[in-house]
Amino acid sequence: MNVEERVELARYTTLGTGGPASVFARPRTIGEVEELLRLAAERGLDVATVGLGSNLLVADRGVDALVLKLDGAVAAVTVDGELLRAGGGAANAVVLHRARDAGLGGFEFACAIPGTIGGGVWMNGGAYGSDFESVLERVLVATAEGTGWLTPAELGLSYRHSNLRHGQVVVEAELRLRPRDPVAIKEDVRDLNARRKAAQPTNRRTFGSVFKNPEHELTAGRMLEACGLKGHRIGGAQISPKHANFIENAGGARTADALALMREATRRAHEQYGVELRHEVELLGEP
Ligand SMILES: Cc1cc2nc3c(=O)[nH]c(=O)nc-3n(C[C@H](O)[C@H](O)[C@H](O)COP(=O)(O)OP(=O)(O)OC[C@H]3O[C@@H](n4cnc5c(N)ncnc54)[C@H](O)[C@@H]3O)c2cc1C
Repeated sequence: MNVEERVELARYTTLGTGGPASVFARPRTIGEVEELLRLAAERGLDVATVGLGSNLLVADRGVDALVLKLDGAVAAVTVDGELLRAGGGAANAVVLHRARDAGLGGFEFACAIPGTIGGGVWMNGGAYGSDFESVLERVLVATAEGTGWLTPAELGLSYRHSNLRHGQVVVEAELRLRPRDPVAIKEDVRDLNARRKAAQPTNRRTFGSVFKNPEHELTAGRMLEACGLKGHRIGGAQISPKHANFIENAGGARTADALALMREATRRAHEQYGVELRHEVELLGEP
């Protein structure tokens, strides 16, 4: 197994920012994940896992941790009747393809979530009225203390939230799907993607929604738009002119630029609406 030092994480995030991981490895089996977790525990090293980095802001100075990127068997997909088993590193797009080919529906909502199964479980990813919780049967989680199955209830899934912490690695998930005509799945996915393209900056480097929607009549995007923040730029990062709850890398952005925009957005939403916006994006390392 390849274990490297000081690997730049910018190329593992969709925003394309962030510094190096002090140690980086690509385990291919559950056994390798367990071995790495034990090693890190022995050395007192923190552990974090990256999926496709589509909900991740990595500190510019990097992360003093063992960062794992799941590969091989822990990113594979198999179908057994109406049960789909996916490694934590499997991309949602691959899972959706396999489900469609097997005539299984229920995962269509994830067509425009450019992440992995592990990242989806971590934040109970969702769209169009559905989410991971609605399809998850159980999840295999590895830690330095051992590996075991957790149910959605044990994971504490709620709106864009789970109880998972760094050091807990989603190595596999079982999805309970239902028979559906592959043609109908394809048509739904096409419609959902078209809706997405019309509303969001899908052709830009972003990390998806910056803030969770607050309990307010306005969504986070509408609120920030009303605060006049569309197109607002700090350094190389700008609030998307198309959708104000997205931050784009407009060229040469650093994580610090994105964080400064987030602080400004939080301040303005509080000032204008008395609302405390909470970020949806995950931070890795000390900003
Ligand atoms: C254009 C765009 C559109 C998006 N639209 C949506 C949307 O509609 N709905 C939505 O919910 N999200 C959306 N997102 C955000 C993002 O795609 C999701 O949050 C996705 O689930 C993140 O998965 P990931 O594999 O990229 O995780 P990463 O961004 O790599 O990581 C996110 C968190 O998950 C943890 N993690 C990742 N893999 C594992 C694992 N195997 N075990 C343990 N922890 C793990 C990481 O440590 C980190 O804390 C969008 C993002 C983009 C860029």
